[in-house]
Amino acid sequence: MSLKEPKSMFVKVRCSKCKNEQIIFGNATTVVNCLVCGKELAVPTGGRAKIKSRILESLN
Ligand SMILES: [Zn+2]
Repeated sequence: MSLKEPKSMFVKVRCSKCKNEQIIFGNATTVVNCLVCGKELAVPTGGRAKIKSRILESLN
């Protein structure tokens, strides 16, 4: 469960596995993987992407 829904286009997240910080598209239509370790960071749900990692901030 995430504390806040990503409302903006891009969100900065931190990988829960390797702590890599990565900016991802909030409405991703494909699975977004961590560029460092490959862990799933977000999965598409048909609308807004479900963020599976910690959201650090939303970028407008
Ligand atoms: Zn990672």
